[in-house]
Amino acid sequence: MPITLIQPRHSYADDVWQGHIHLSAPLLSVKARLQAAGITGIGYIDENVTPHPSYPQEGVVGINLIGSPYIPVVLDMIKRIPEQVNILLGGQIIWSLTPEEFDAIFRKNNPRHTIQNGNNPSILAETAGVSAEQIPPVEHVSLEKAYAEIPDGTLHLYLQNEFSVYVSQWCKYNCSFCQAAKWQPEIYRDLEWLSAELLFLATKAVGFWVPSLKFYMSNLDILQTPEKLSDFLDVIEHVQKTSGIKIYFRGLAWVESFMQCYNNHKELLQRAQKIGLTTIGYGIDGGTPEVWKSIGKVQNFRKISGNAHFDEQQKAIKTIEFTRELWIQPEILMVFWHPNETPESLKAAYNFCQDMHHQFWALPRPHVSKNVIPGARWWRDPRNAKLVRQFIDDPRLFQALDYTALASELSHEDENLRRQTNYWYEKICALDPGSTHVIVPDTPEFRSIAESRWLTVRQMNAWKFDR
Ligand code: SF4
Repeated sequence: MPITLIQPRHSYADDVWQGHIHLSAPLLSVKARLQAAGITGIGYIDENVTPHPSYPQEGVVGINLIGSPYIPVVLDMIKRIPEQVNILLGGQIIWSLTPEEFDAIFRKNNPRHTIQNGNNPSILAETAGVSAEQIPPVEHVSLEKAYAEIPDGTLHLYLQNEFSVYVSQWCKYNCSFCQAAKWQPEIYRDLEWLSAELLFLATKAVGFWVPSLKFYMSNLDILQTPEKLSDFLDVIEHVQKTSGIKIYFRGLAWVESFMQCYNNHKELLQRAQKIGLTTIGYGIDGGTPEVWKSIGKVQNFRKISGNAHFDEQQKAIKTIEFTRELWIQPEILMVFWHPNETPESLKAAYNFCQDMHHQFWALPRPHVSKNVIPGARWWRDPRNAKLVRQFIDDPRLFQALDYTALASELSHEDENLRRQTNYWYEKICALDPGSTHVIVPDTPEFRSIAESRWLTVRQMNAWKFDR
């Protein structure tokens, strides 16, 4: 059966022009795993590059469902895909839904299609006509062949823009609001394969006259395994030297890991900066130690880091200060509005961002936590069952769970706190033009606000891509 993998169009792109041009590692990893099982001729469509593609008339399509806001986008796509085509849905969000929720969202709304969970290895194998053992896990495949099959015109476009590189996965912490793959130690990929892939992309970029490559690392904390980071830097040095192209990259880190690394391997940070590490985004995620404690953000309030002693807030401040001293751009990932927040803690989140922006030019990147979201603890809390039902019954509402969307009547019941959250969120965004774009949630209240301005929510969100 022919297989085609599809990257959906960005949820805030218009219908006409190119969408968010971004070479996405997750979908190509699926392609690489299928290729490793001996399957050839796998099609690949990126709807950001091709706005109105012709879908296959037979076989299987695999769709990369990137997160909650993409549920309405994918439901629209399914309506356009011929009924005889089998559909596999993959992505982190699919893991977070129960089989009943999956049925209610996707199958009930499209009864004539065959729609299955493509993350499930046995379903993926059965659909592809191979055994599950033949499909290797994601950390044991090379993406080089999958990259090589991208047509030159499209690859050229991708390489002119920042792209994602799969380096490692998993996070050992377990913050209650987070939907990432967490509570497991980091697993790095085989760096020899990564080296060959990057060399392939770098050589292509040189051929396209692209002056430099820019990517962000998939690691949830680039500093949690310093020895592996050092090996990764060797790879980047090798690729730069062999191809002659400059590579810039960025990543995420925890405050605790930065302090450990700064105290014990400062030279590694200096080397990373010299080689091309431009930016580190820190998950600060709250304005006060009380908020950090309430969400299990232990790494932000632990008092001792190596030989240095800090009081609770000082640790985050020192991390940002030292990062700036190293000539690395610090970013403040400020997910806020967690349960137990108060008007004072919301304001403290703003004050923190403002101070760090003024003192160290730290770029604030705020997000409004959506506590009741698939994957987070509160989605399964029986007290939220009625709210969860609303999303399942009307999946268009999933867009309102975008972390860059304003707090809405669905995500934030208390009207007063909701108003204050949005007030401080917009103020943080306004601190720097490079900060987060404010997204309008697609809920009844915001639809009527949009209508009063003779607009739709979709029009209000047009072209607001998060980098
Ligand atoms: S918020 Fe960051 S540190 Fe916390 S579980 Fe998620 S990835 Fe890990």
